[in-house]
Amino acid sequence: METPRDQGRPMRIIIIGGGIGGLCLAQGLKQAGVDDIVVYERDESPRGRMQGYRLRISPEGERALRECLPRLAQDLLTATSNKRQEEGLAAYDERLNQQWAPQFDDPRGDAPDKVDAVDRVTLRRVLLAGLDDVVRFGKRFTHYEQAEGGVVAHFADGHSDTGDVLVAADGANSQVRAQLLPDYSAQDLGVRAILSRTPRASAIEAGLPEVLRDRFLNVTGSNGLRLALMPMVFRTPPREAADRLWPGLGFDETEDYYMSVFSVHRDVLGLPDSSFFAMTGEELRELVLERTADWHPDLRGVFAHAEPEETYPLALRATMPVEPWAPGSVIPLGDAVHTMPPTGGVGANTALRDAAALSHALTAVTRGERSLLDAVGEYQAEMVKYATEATEMSLKIAKWSMRKIDVNEKNLSQA
Ligand SMILES: Cc1cc2nc3c(=O)[nH]c(=O)nc-3n(C[C@H](O)[C@H](O)[C@H](O)COP(=O)(O)OP(=O)(O)OC[C@H]3O[C@@H](n4cnc5c(N)ncnc54)[C@H](O)[C@@H]3O)c2cc1C
Repeated sequence: METPRDQGRPMRIIIIGGGIGGLCLAQGLKQAGVDDIVVYERDESPRGRMQGYRLRISPEGERALRECLPRLAQDLLTATSNKRQEEGLAAYDERLNQQWAPQFDDPRGDAPDKVDAVDRVTLRRVLLAGLDDVVRFGKRFTHYEQAEGGVVAHFADGHSDTGDVLVAADGANSQVRAQLLPDYSAQDLGVRAILSRTPRASAIEAGLPEVLRDRFLNVTGSNGLRLALMPMVFRTPPREAADRLWPGLGFDETEDYYMSVFSVHRDVLGLPDSSFFAMTGEELRELVLERTADWHPDLRGVFAHAEPEETYPLALRATMPVEPWAPGSVIPLGDAVHTMPPTGGVGANTALRDAAALSHALTAVTRGERSLLDAVGEYQAEMVKYATEATEMSLKIAKWSMRKIDVNEKNLSQA
């Protein structure tokens, strides 16, 4: 088969989805000098839907980011990351009696520029830096077709584009994956969660004890409700960091906050999905306050100040096991091919790792060092292995911390 290189033209790479994985891939390719790339994103603008939660960044995720981002964007990443926490994780009951406080080893040690957590919206803005000519907003992908000259991607506005490669980076409800792997879908774990955000200043004013302010707090209530509360304290406020390091990026003003995730099995929640997913942010906040009526008032004060416009319902899902696909010119990455519950804090890190690995693979193809099929086959073999391990780890933590999840035990015992 004649390759783009044989035809004397660069390989054209179309990426569907300008989220964490798709943008990191675009950055990695651009850094490697691969120019003919385009990212199609359904959001109308870089600001998108808010989804301003905190993301833990693992050593693997940080390595992938540093491999793909130019120097200045790496500096922006570090400057806007979470201020180092001295206290770590602690588990409490709902009356704020401490249960245990595990110690975790981080191979990055105490490196002063270590990035161990970021704000999701800010990370996306960092990943967009320098990609103005690459990302097209307001483009909702609908389907693709294989044609003589490559893969044709079609969009809701009637536009189409032909590439040599089509990357599915369109997240957990991927349209590309639905066409590539029609029988492959994530399993509902039966856990329903309420994700929300409280400004740090309001939480402190509401009485959050000093000893808990800089920790990752895990509270398991006797009624089956579980709360994870995590601080996001910026090293430098994102707008200030962007104005100093990369004027013109125009980051939004963002204040320090606590992210909270309440989770409970739907049998314990006792609400039909049709009602739960129709609730407004205000109603979800009231639901949490009602279900935690006997919890310690200093904890309840935090949720009482949660921002309704940043409060969402979620269903926890997982793809287990992560299935291989027939290597070819349509290539998935991130949540599009491996959805996992947020309990392990590794979904985005795995998407970033995919982006770095795929960036290396496609760069080798554009340089004529590898055939597309070989490069994609190797990417897939490696990715299926580490993504399966990450999903299993996330499921084990979900099972342990939620007490009840709907999961095939066979999948868990493989770990
Ligand atoms: C509450 C919560 C907490 C989490 N915490 C962590 C954590 O601490 N650490 C961690 O590693 N992971 C965490 N995760 C998981 C993480 O958010 C995801 O794994 C990660 O965002 C996946 O990246 P992605 O690029 O695959 O998909 P996404 O980031 O979801 O990006 C997909 C993009 O595709 C776009 N898109 C979708 N459909 C179309 C279409 N038809 N056409 C065009 N564009 C489209 C979307 O608008 C989006 O921009 C958490 C998740 C949740 C819900």
